[in-house]
Amino acid sequence: MKTVSILGATGSVGTSTLDLVEREPDRFRVRALTANGDVGKLAAAARRTGAELAVVADESCLPALRDALAGTVTQVAAGRQAICDAAAGADWTMGAIVGCAGLEPVMAAIRHGGTVVLANKEPLVSAGEVILAAAARSGATLLPADSEHNAIYQCFDFARPEGVRRIILTASGGPFRDWSREQMADVTVEQAVAHPNWSMGAKISIDSATMMNKGLELIEAARLFPVPHERIEVVMHRQSVIHSMVDYVDGSMLAQLGPSDMRVPIAHTLAWPERMATPMAPLDLVAIGRLDFEACDPVRFPAIKLARDALEAGGARPAILNAANEIAVAAFLDRRIGFLEIAAIVADTLDHYDPPAPETLEAVLAIDGEARRMADERIRDHAKGRVR
Ligand code: NAD
Ligand code: MG
Repeated sequence: MKTVSILGATGSVGTSTLDLVEREPDRFRVRALTANGDVGKLAAAARRTGAELAVVADESCLPALRDALAGTVTQVAAGRQAICDAAAGADWTMGAIVGCAGLEPVMAAIRHGGTVVLANKEPLVSAGEVILAAAARSGATLLPADSEHNAIYQCFDFARPEGVRRIILTASGGPFRDWSREQMADVTVEQAVAHPNWSMGAKISIDSATMMNKGLELIEAARLFPVPHERIEVVMHRQSVIHSMVDYVDGSMLAQLGPSDMRVPIAHTLAWPERMATPMAPLDLVAIGRLDFEACDPVRFPAIKLARDALEAGGARPAILNAANEIAVAAFLDRRIGFLEIAAIVADTLDHYDPPAPETLEAVLAIDGEARRMADERIRDHAKGRVR
């Protein structure tokens, strides 16, 4: 029996994780489920699974959560610290909070030990070194649930990394992969969240549309796999059937293929090192028929280059990139800026902020906070029509 906690249990990845966990009640027992403020969905999941603990980040939601779970076995709590406390205690913990809000909870899970699964990529981007050092200290096993990194994990020969020549991340290209910059200037929120291949939360859907998601994933890959960053490449593959590849020095290239459903990589991490069945039909290769590959266009999608530059420069750059992007994406979702301004605000924030490399979690959080403040200031200037 594995005890399982899900941080961000009401989101897209959290819901997919619960679906798998609930299919095998003899194999998994739910310890903690957390959410920001979606009390209805959280309480329903806690009731169904008999979770020991349900926690909301938003303290004003605690009375409603208490009411919703009255008379059940589930204890309730609220607040950021309560989320961190809940994160430490299971054999297997899914980090599926969105953004750097997941950083401290993920750190709490890692310090506790066991298996910590990272769907939540932003903490790895901003605080990669700090997270990896904490995992080395506690002995926690980190497994990637992001489909590309999970694919690489399944293909990578960790015993002989010198045999690896390149990592190739595949990118669907998002909903605007065939659009010109002029067309992208006027896209609406509704158009941008409509991903052609995947159903996901709003933030990562916008990141996929700008291709900042692939930029974040480039940095994520450099954190997770012992390969120099210049040997991590991105190729556009519009069918999202191959989730990523590892190229070996002898000319062999290993790929992982699967349906575009997060339950496949999540199941890999949930059962690891074993395997578990999922409800997905096997890939029908004849029906798929063909797999296409194209180069990514750095002019139409400047976010990938911004991320690559941040990765190469290292230090605080990835944390600034991520924080400014989180603020710019939120502003786009609020309809305060246009689609093309997302990458422009990230670039502008990076241009104006260059603190020394952070060495502690506190230092990362301070840089994250300042970069958010600066990005927000730029968005407000923008709204006032000031030319930058
Ligand atoms: P989502 O928006 O659907 O869900 C986010 C979850 O986090 C919700 O449960 C929400 O209640 C919780 N949350 C939000 N803000 C919070 C806060 N401040 N404190 C505590 N909890 C908070 O997001 P998602 O699409 O499931 O993505 C989650 C993470 O996984 C992201 O980092 C994303 O990049 C990554 N990811 C998602 C997918 C996907 O298919 N959705 C694929 C790969 C990676
Ligand atoms: Mg991905």
